[in-house]
Amino acid sequence: MTSIPEHCPKCRGHMKQGFVLDVTHGGRGISQWAAGTPQKSFWVGTKLPEEKLIPIGVFRCESCGFLESYAREEFAPQ
Ligand SMILES: [Zn+2]
Repeated sequence: MTSIPEHCPKCRGHMKQGFVLDVTHGGRGISQWAAGTPQKSFWVGTKLPEEKLIPIGVFRCESCGFLESYAREEFAPQ
């Protein structure tokens, strides 16, 4: 069981939770993880797999800026 990081693996600085903002024409969203390799589609850009997407939570070191990402259900918007 992996716990969320409290200290930076590089410099032991404090890790702060956030997410990668995805700005589109439709507004703002959170980048999500999808299984498999991306497949280009002329009509919709990148095709999405049938499986559910998982929102990506990203932790940032407040000292050195190192980013650590987790694709976990609990990062879904409340
Ligand atoms: Zn750091």
